[in-house]
Amino acid sequence: MGQSTSEGHLFVGGKVFLHTQQPGLETEPQFGDALYVRDGVIEHVGFKDDDAISKCRAAGAVVHELNGRTVLPGFVDGHIHLLRLGQSLKKVGLDHCENLDDVRKAIKEHALANPDEPRVLCKGWMRYMCKPLASLIDDLDPRPIYVDSKDLHTTWCSSPALEEIDADNLKDPEGGKIERDANGNATGAFEEAAVFTIIWPFLASVSSEKDREEMVQSAIEAYNASGYTGAIDMAMEEQAWATLLNMKKKQSLPFRLAAYWLMRPSTSEADCLAQVDRAIEVYKQLNAEDSPNLHVVGIKLVCDGIIDACTAYLSEPYLKGAEAKKASTGEPFWSGNILKAVVHKADAAGMQVALHAIGDAAITMAIDALSTCSPKNRHRVEHLELASSRDAKRLGELGITASVQPVHADPWILRAWPGLLGHRCERAFPYREFSDGGAPLALGSDSPTSPWDIMANVYVAATRKSYRNTKYDEVVNYNFRLGICESVVAASYGSARSVFWDKRLGSLEPGKVADLTIWDMDWKEDKLLGATVKETWFNGEKVWSV
Ligand SMILES: [Zn+2]
Repeated sequence: MGQSTSEGHLFVGGKVFLHTQQPGLETEPQFGDALYVRDGVIEHVGFKDDDAISKCRAAGAVVHELNGRTVLPGFVDGHIHLLRLGQSLKKVGLDHCENLDDVRKAIKEHALANPDEPRVLCKGWMRYMCKPLASLIDDLDPRPIYVDSKDLHTTWCSSPALEEIDADNLKDPEGGKIERDANGNATGAFEEAAVFTIIWPFLASVSSEKDREEMVQSAIEAYNASGYTGAIDMAMEEQAWATLLNMKKKQSLPFRLAAYWLMRPSTSEADCLAQVDRAIEVYKQLNAEDSPNLHVVGIKLVCDGIIDACTAYLSEPYLKGAEAKKASTGEPFWSGNILKAVVHKADAAGMQVALHAIGDAAITMAIDALSTCSPKNRHRVEHLELASSRDAKRLGELGITASVQPVHADPWILRAWPGLLGHRCERAFPYREFSDGGAPLALGSDSPTSPWDIMANVYVAATRKSYRNTKYDEVVNYNFRLGICESVVAASYGSARSVFWDKRLGSLEPGKVADLTIWDMDWKEDKLLGATVKETWFNGEKVWSV
């Protein structure tokens, strides 16, 4: 795609981001004004009068005038679901809906506009819009309709969808639920583990290999266009992995992917350990040395659910329940002993462990399980939405990566929280404490649950205000904010470091691969949302431009 020349590429006339390590809250950005890249590698970063720059000019490097633009490292999304993202790019978004009428109208329009699709696939529904009952959408279209909740923890199905999955005859999986009426018939909603152990594999199995390759392709294109050159996949499974291996054989992808193999909760320890055995096999099949741009680095366990569905595991009950779950604390999806056994086995095999933990009790449980593992393996906790100050400190003490998604801290989507948590909202998203306690940060989007716009993530991290609705004045715990520079580094170097890529990429430094992005931006809080990516370079080649 891009040009390549043995004399290399010289970027001058703009700002070149110099940070190579995690800075603090108040750190002001440092910029050079020249960057030289040759044969896919960064050779020099500095200033236009440097000897190295004069030499490469004389040697005939291709000169790229930046016209005041900013060069940042290629970003690495710390938490995504690549195949789901590709799949979701084709689904109709319900994010703009406020109520059932809006939802029905959007589904109907999409169904009419896509008569050849075998199923009607939707995304972005939220609980406050309406209840997830099949009966509310059955009349819209005779094809199976699947509606993903925005957080991907619920799938709402129409009756033909329930029928093709055979929902009435399925048992609830561990850590998951199929909502049923008094007669035991499924009413439309699949919750938590029922989504990723039943719905996802089913929809993957009815898609063709060609469909899946197209999904991955379009996800990578969307990511390159947003300034990413890599990501960490947080729910790798057999089918997606097979597709990625096929693609790797055929072509070189302009993207680097480290993946965590998803474990399915079970009350049988033997079953869980057998899943780890399979993960170890895949881990050994392609490792970082043989295949630096596509490999499995570890395992992922989902320890609890989410606050809005009252499935995040808390130390004290929710103030009011989502429907019947009144006065519940939520429950962990794994027993403490099995969790420890699984985590230890993976750790002993040299694998990294990622634990999804949102509620304070789940976070304590996750850190306890990781506390006896080797800190050398750079284990991580995902989300960390309601952490106690004690646990916030323990992350740094134990060398556990705090993998956070500031877009989830957007006050516009947290409007139900005060009613569910009361004063505990004061502990929401305590990023500052993670960073001050010395925990390595990795910033991600959790796409497709959230948009993957890097500067939206940085904006929410730094302002704790809404980017979804910029007129909404609510600020979520400003004392827990990150700095802009700190967030940008956490979204590049921090994510790279979390999977041992930091020696090779994540910052603009001589000797690192030439993954970079060129931005039209103003380095000010209130200008971040206006920043735009102009070019993305992968391995020294331009792979995307406006
Ligand atoms: Zn996720």
